[in-house]
Amino acid sequence: MSEKRHEIDELGEFGLINRITKNFTLTNSTSLTGIGDDAAVIAAGNDNLLVSTDMLIEGIHFDLSYVPLQHLGYKAIAVNVSDIAAMNGKAEQVTVSLALSNRFSLEAVETLYNGIKAACENYKVDLIGGDTTSSVSGLVISVTVIGRAPAEKIAYRSGAKANDIICVTGDLGAAFLGLQVLEREKQVFLADPNMQPNIEKYNYLVGRQLKPEARTDIVFDLEDAKVIPTSMIDVSDGLASELLHLSNHSGVGVRIYEDKVPVDHQAYETAIEFNLDPVTCALNGGEDYELLFTIRKEDQEKINKHPDIHMIGYMHDRKSENVMITKQNNFVPLKAQGWNHFKEN
Ligand code: ADP
Ligand code: MG
Repeated sequence: MSEKRHEIDELGEFGLINRITKNFTLTNSTSLTGIGDDAAVIAAGNDNLLVSTDMLIEGIHFDLSYVPLQHLGYKAIAVNVSDIAAMNGKAEQVTVSLALSNRFSLEAVETLYNGIKAACENYKVDLIGGDTTSSVSGLVISVTVIGRAPAEKIAYRSGAKANDIICVTGDLGAAFLGLQVLEREKQVFLADPNMQPNIEKYNYLVGRQLKPEARTDIVFDLEDAKVIPTSMIDVSDGLASELLHLSNHSGVGVRIYEDKVPVDHQAYETAIEFNLDPVTCALNGGEDYELLFTIRKEDQEKINKHPDIHMIGYMHDRKSENVMITKQNNFVPLKAQGWNHFKEN
């Protein structure tokens, strides 16, 4: 009798991670936090070290027919730095590992590294190592980032309490809509290669998709305002999914208001053009790399004049009630519909 084969897509990404890591325990006293947050936390003297790693795969995370290699290099660093910012920490070092097929020339790899260098300079992180190998099918980039924060300033996913205010930075949904525009122009181009892409009108959205920025500025602004978030996460999979992570890890419920969810006007108009609901794009789109965090009510006035921090709701003590209150005052349950690479492909 052969054993039954289980498909990974039945479990999903998080189910798989839980399954394969459940028998591992932390044995070193320096391993303060392992799997489950935006970064691991390691004791190292007065400060704690923060470590996170992310892999980008051609054909899954990026399509080189419209993603310039320089932007890709920049993004690979930015999304990792974002995971350190999501712990309220500062990134200091990165390692970059590459797998390349023979389709890539020296010039192509140098272009990729120009983007990596620009990001390292912008975020003030040092490239300290990596690994290079060959691949049979396309490009793989794996980045590990190391950051630092004083123990008392680290913001975990698990610290939110009832009545805490939910804050999000910037605007949401634009990166997803940028991807829709790029995908549409690619199809137009494939149908008729003489057609020139028409993306001028969507420059903000395309920029948000191709060149996301980690909100390291917010970590400094919070420090200046003397606010330590009670919990924090970065918005990589969409606002709804990230809110549910904060809810699950913290054991409290989420209430957000539809009319407070920040959506840029270009994103709003483009969503309508694509027959999509702008707020749904913000909730489920992903790849915005904004910071989502909670603060104590007492801290509200310290940051409520910040032009790029939006207070969108609050936490409450019924942890299974995670809702958005619509403009018509209906309560809509929040659902995680972020990316599931196993299901998509
Ligand atoms: P993020 O969305 O911040 O990139 P992930 O969803 O990739 O985080 O991962 C969730 C958690 O599981 C993280 O703590 C990550 O380090 C851990 N993790 C992911 N894949 C693995 C793996 N193959 N083995 C061990 N830990 C993993
Ligand atoms: Mg993250």
